[in-house]
Amino acid sequence: MPTTPCHAFLGLGSNKGESERLLAVARDRIARIPQTTLVAASSVYRTQPQLYADQPWFWNQVVRVQTALSPGELLAATQTIEAELGRNRCQEERFGPRTMDIDILMFGDLQVQDEVLTIPHPRLVERAFMLVPLLELEPQAILPDGTVLREALDHLSYTWSNDQIWQAN
Ligand code: AMP
Repeated sequence: MPTTPCHAFLGLGSNKGESERLLAVARDRIARIPQTTLVAASSVYRTQPQLYADQPWFWNQVVRVQTALSPGELLAATQTIEAELGRNRCQEERFGPRTMDIDILMFGDLQVQDEVLTIPHPRLVERAFMLVPLLELEPQAILPDGTVLREALDHLSYTWSNDQIWQAN
């Protein structure tokens, strides 16, 4: 449990329902998580689906929060918001359409690897839809293992134009 507030980055994604409105509702609920302040939000990006191409494009955004919660407490809060926004894990395919997905991308300098959480998020360095908005908020972002996220993004094969991000699998 952190003793001082910690900056964390959350990745939001939706491609089912009224995604733009759902992102706004998610931001509002994140801002009301106890002991947590929503500090900044990136632009909203339209992004090409990964793994299963045959689904609608996603709406993605990254927000920065300051929180005194532990990573597990923050995950519980974000999963409550996902459920309130209509997410039902039992009825969806992995990597398929979802009303709201909220991932903890980074949590200060913490590294976590247990049954429920991996931080930094294990797919962060592979996904332009996470890296582009995160770097918009924190251009010099570096992972606890020293990975420079700008360099990780430069290694990816992706295209970005007018807030749209294409990245083939
Ligand atoms: P997803 O289907 O992408 O929403 O995956 C949800 C599951 O991934 C959750 O039940 C978490 O236990 C697990 N998970 C592991 N690492 C993370 C993370 N950094 N952020 C969010 N969920 C995570």
